[in-house]
Amino acid sequence: MKHYDVVIIGGGPGGLAAAKGAREAGAASVLVLERDDRLGGILNQCIHDGFGLVRYKAMLTGPEYARRARQEALDAGSELLTGAMVTGLTADRVVTAVTRDGLLTLQAGAVVLATGCRERTRGAIAIPGSRPAGIYTAGAAQNLINTKNLMVGKRVVVLGSGDVGLIMARRLTLEGARVLCVAEMNPLPSGLERNVSQCLYDFGIPLYLRCSVTNIWGRKRLEAVELSDLDDAGQPIPGTQQRVDCDTLLLSVGLIPENEVAQQAGVALDPRSNGTVTDVFLQTSVPGIFSCGNSRKVLDLADFVTVQGLAAGRNAAAFLQGKPLEEMPPETSNAMAKGLPQPGAVTCILCPKGCRIQTDSDGTLTGNGCPKGETYALQEQKAPQRVLTTTLLTRDGQQIPVKSRAGLPRGRLLSCMESLHGVRLPDETSLLPDPFGLGVDLVPPAHDIQTPEV
Ligand SMILES: Cc1cc2nc3c(=O)[nH]c(=O)nc-3n(C[C@H](O)[C@H](O)[C@H](O)COP(=O)(O)OP(=O)(O)OC[C@H]3O[C@@H](n4cnc5c(N)ncnc54)[C@H](O)[C@@H]3O)c2cc1C
Ligand code: SF4
Repeated sequence: MKHYDVVIIGGGPGGLAAAKGAREAGAASVLVLERDDRLGGILNQCIHDGFGLVRYKAMLTGPEYARRARQEALDAGSELLTGAMVTGLTADRVVTAVTRDGLLTLQAGAVVLATGCRERTRGAIAIPGSRPAGIYTAGAAQNLINTKNLMVGKRVVVLGSGDVGLIMARRLTLEGARVLCVAEMNPLPSGLERNVSQCLYDFGIPLYLRCSVTNIWGRKRLEAVELSDLDDAGQPIPGTQQRVDCDTLLLSVGLIPENEVAQQAGVALDPRSNGTVTDVFLQTSVPGIFSCGNSRKVLDLADFVTVQGLAAGRNAAAFLQGKPLEEMPPETSNAMAKGLPQPGAVTCILCPKGCRIQTDSDGTLTGNGCPKGETYALQEQKAPQRVLTTTLLTRDGQQIPVKSRAGLPRGRLLSCMESLHGVRLPDETSLLPDPFGLGVDLVPPAHDIQTPEV
């Protein structure tokens, strides 16, 4: 049986950072096992920008962030194995994985669990009605559209106003679908103000609060959903039902840590969240098994996952060496405001502080934490710009995420998207020079090193 000092299960930002942390803290051999055929975890399907503000001081897309994290793990000297699904873990740290070359069994000195999370499904929220095709979790739809080039539908209702649902409402609109509404059972949206503004308001997508899907119709394919207003107790108010004809329902109703492997080793899980229970050193109830990122507790920024992954990796190495463990970094969450955008206010998106900048009656701007915020707010008032993120096929059929190197006029986003129909990239590293005649190139992740600091 092959031995590794540290084996990391999951190659998302948490696992990749743990690999870097373990190597830098002196672990001689570090292996990341990732079931997918590429590293980066959920980031590969999150083609929108907004990642990396804390860690890299740059506004990156998910794939750009994943690329950097992968490179850092490699530069630190870790081994990264994709197509390796971990199916077994014992309390004495024997790891079994199904790989392309057959079954792999390893003895690890220490293990870091970085298996991420998965979405709650329709079953978890029990909507009555029939069982037609056309009902997806928002993340599954994101994966199909952004990594498999498959469109999920044309007339879409989104249930749940978390960030994933909001981001998918925009993405589907840019891809030509009609998003009929986002329905949210709570009195306020659960996603960031910034996303309500840029994903719904920018495209005129209605947001219905205190509202839910109370029935589903359709034989083979979804034909319609019933929406009902909810009372303060969250119960449908009789007489408020309305039928909305649609072919697709996206569910964005929460995330649950993924911990089947952890359970096999007897790692204690929090019964409410399903996350791993750890001490302040990110060590689980089983000595030598550490946990970080969304498998421990769902975090809203990849940057925070990375910070935690680095600490978990360092502690895994320290455990092996019999050295004292370091306390995990303080748990931070995105300071950007959630809920409904305030009238007359702009949320600055240039750093995670997310200052709410208000225009007073005399036109003075207040609330910005630094001068960059003032420039941003003035731009938003006069001529709002948005970075366009989408995917393009290469001539040999690979789907590549791309983004505009600078903001485009907000009102031109849909026509810019239309003009990309049938356009192909020569290969995965080529950029598309000024495709819209606006002096802005479309670039794939291979060009991210040129992303300016914000
Ligand atoms: C739609 C969406 C939008 C987001 N937007 C932002 C944003 O704008 N900015 C931001 O900073 N953050 C954002 N986030 C959050 C951020 O992407 C995540 O918090 C972060 O990626 C979690 O990292 P992780 O390593 O814990 O998990 P993941 O990225 O989920 O990685 C876990 C990995 O473990 C692998 N794995 C699981 N089980 C096994 C097994 N048994 N064997 C082998 N491999 C396994 C999985 O395949 C996966 O690759 C977003 C998340 C989502 C879902
Ligand atoms: S105004 Fe400055 S401090 Fe505030 S969010 Fe913007 S960049 Fe950050």
